[in-house]
Amino acid sequence: MTTLALIGGQVLRPDLSVDYADIYIDQTTGEISAISTDSDGLEAETDVDADTVLDATGCLCTPGFVNAHTHIAMTLLRGYADDKPLETWLREDIWPVEAELTPEDIRVGAELGILESIKAGTTAFADMYFEIGETAAVVEQAGIRALLGHGVISVAKDREAARADAKKGLAVAEEYNGAADGRISTAFMPHSLTTVDAEYYEEFVPEARDRGLPIHFHANETVNEVEPIVEEHGVRPLEYAADLGLLEPEDFLAHGVHLDEREIDLLAQTGASVIHCPASNMKLASGIAPVQQLREAGVTVGLGTDGTASNNDLSLLDEARDAAMIGKLAADDASAVPAEAVVEMMTRGSAEAIGLESGRLEAGAPADIAVLDLEQPHLTPAHDLVSHLAYAAAASDVRHTVCAGQVLMEDREVLTLDEAAVCERAAERAMALVERAEQ
Ligand SMILES: [Zn+2]
Repeated sequence: MTTLALIGGQVLRPDLSVDYADIYIDQTTGEISAISTDSDGLEAETDVDADTVLDATGCLCTPGFVNAHTHIAMTLLRGYADDKPLETWLREDIWPVEAELTPEDIRVGAELGILESIKAGTTAFADMYFEIGETAAVVEQAGIRALLGHGVISVAKDREAARADAKKGLAVAEEYNGAADGRISTAFMPHSLTTVDAEYYEEFVPEARDRGLPIHFHANETVNEVEPIVEEHGVRPLEYAADLGLLEPEDFLAHGVHLDEREIDLLAQTGASVIHCPASNMKLASGIAPVQQLREAGVTVGLGTDGTASNNDLSLLDEARDAAMIGKLAADDASAVPAEAVVEMMTRGSAEAIGLESGRLEAGAPADIAVLDLEQPHLTPAHDLVSHLAYAAAASDVRHTVCAGQVLMEDREVLTLDEAAVCERAAERAMALVERAEQ
């Protein structure tokens, strides 16, 4: 057994209280073995009984952040096209470039996205994209945790091509489930309720269930996604989703912006989760998700950045701040979506939504940890560290990142990816990609 200890810092407990404590990790199992309660927090001890000791003096140890909805390789399109509504942006800018993506582009984009994520204290992400094997290989190397799925689309395809795409979605989910020493899990991921026709849901959802796969899809993101379903099927989108068998407790949908009360009740009854992506929803002017009502109804809400092209970064700390701010505006109530709620959403809420045991620091939990340096002007004074996480902390405050008991970043240096090489490759491939698309 090899062991790791995080010494001298404060620890965010599952009840969101904070105290000085040392965290002991069994690196063989990847779990937290103990959290002491007797640390004086003054300075790192030199005689700690562990193979590796990380200094957390002046720091806050929090559960690693969980990005429950993203398209990680879209980092290559960061800043390529902004300031347009969703449908125009997808058709004019994003889809033409995505059509030119090669597997190597996706690998390089995933490297960049995972590098950025580790530097932002993210220890797990849920990814819907293409060429899943490329992303899986980077996850394996980088040491992060991920739930991966192939985004299935049927519109603008003939029946044979659409069925082949859905079959691919099932095949890659089976192939990579449990990969990277169990750090990779998978889901069946039909892109959305409007980009996959009913007949493919009817054929392939039962097959996904037979394989024990959760289902992840985009839903109710814009008004333009709601109206066609009401017109064609005579019911609201989530009633349609329930009819298709898409709202099981292990399922999670991205966005849920335009939901009526019946749909919120349906989510509460079925136990399906919503991944709130406030930055993307604001930037594309998609609307404001009713997060306070979802929480009051007992729906599990996680946080996601969505792709970087609509964000434009992968920081869950930014997302938490956005979620709190926009949640108050939506509810017309400054006490709505408080700091505790968004801190819970980016840790345990997201983890629960995508089927992970992480999101809490306690003995027996996965050792997925972000360590934030509190000795910063913008984090001074320290009246309330939960408030700081929600409103004041930035990705660049993350000093160490630990996932499954392994140190992925120490003192801002990522140990599992070569930062300079990854950034150089990504910049080169992104330029070449855009040139091909614009020819
Ligand atoms: Zn998305």
